[in-house]
Amino acid sequence: MGVAELFPAERQEAKPVDRITIRRPDDWHIHLRDGAMLKAVLPYTAAQFARGIIMPNLVPPVTTVAAAQAYRERILAALPAGLDFTPLMTCYLRDDTDPDEIERGFKDKVWVAAKLYPAGATTNSHAGVTDILGIAPVLERMERIGMPLLIHGEATDPEIDIFDREAAFMEGSLIPLLGRHQGLKVTVEHATTAEILDVVREHRSRCAATITPHHLVINRTHIFQGGLRPHLYCLPVAKRERHRLALRAAATSGEACFYLGTDTAPHVRGAKEASCGCAGVFCGPSALQTYVQVFDEEGALDKFEAFASLNGARFHGLEPNAGTVTLERRESRIAEAVAVDDTAVVVFRGEETLPWSVA
Ligand SMILES: [Zn+2]
Repeated sequence: MGVAELFPAERQEAKPVDRITIRRPDDWHIHLRDGAMLKAVLPYTAAQFARGIIMPNLVPPVTTVAAAQAYRERILAALPAGLDFTPLMTCYLRDDTDPDEIERGFKDKVWVAAKLYPAGATTNSHAGVTDILGIAPVLERMERIGMPLLIHGEATDPEIDIFDREAAFMEGSLIPLLGRHQGLKVTVEHATTAEILDVVREHRSRCAATITPHHLVINRTHIFQGGLRPHLYCLPVAKRERHRLALRAAATSGEACFYLGTDTAPHVRGAKEASCGCAGVFCGPSALQTYVQVFDEEGALDKFEAFASLNGARFHGLEPNAGTVTLERRESRIAEAVAVDDTAVVVFRGEETLPWSVA
């Protein structure tokens, strides 16, 4: 009898997991836009997620309780029958935001958080905040009532290299802000650098980061692979490979301060494939398939539920969802694009063979 027969269990290869069932997940960063676009993209997000934080960067931006209520009604009216999705609204901060309005919307459960766009940082951010010190009264009020601040963390000085803008914001604005407002709950949205993940970890008792599916899959070279790939361009722009690997390690680590936020951001094809194309990746239809593939590749499927369904809810003081969703190792393809009026929005990983499917 050989050694192998003496220890049969050790000879067996670990059997790959082919199916996982998790609590229904939430998406903590969604752009739904409005009108025909809202109608076209909402079903994809609602098919995958139970709740989602809705970004307020409409034209004009959602800056009042009344505007957030009206937008929530338009989203619910656009929801196809049979889909169950709860939009969680946010307030777009401006230089002149009134702390009383912030508190009123939060206490009335109209919005769950406020969004800080440094003015000019990304799509429809021109009315954003020009001076963070100037909104200190708003941040103090949010700190007092326990309302989270969601941050698009990029410096806006056009002289700063685009690949350094998250780092510049981190040094010049985020770390000082965390120091000034030591009780404020802060989410660093769509983190793209290894260094900002460490800042989040250092402040994990009240600071978290969302991580997108595309930043787990592409690095900055992919945007130029064989030619310019406008549908992979978003802000913050994808960084070097070492950052992508750090994001994958953080997302799949099980640490409670990292959770799911797709930043699904649709623009019609003509606005992307243009001489000056818009920033944004429309990843809503392929989000869960992409995330679960990453967790599978990293050997961390057992950590997927925490990232997708538990950590974000805990940060926002909400119960996890009641239902479940099952993902399985079965090849699937999703459409290349989703029709909107007489044009379309190109889907991230559309027409690619995806190794995982939503059951
Ligand atoms: Zn966004």
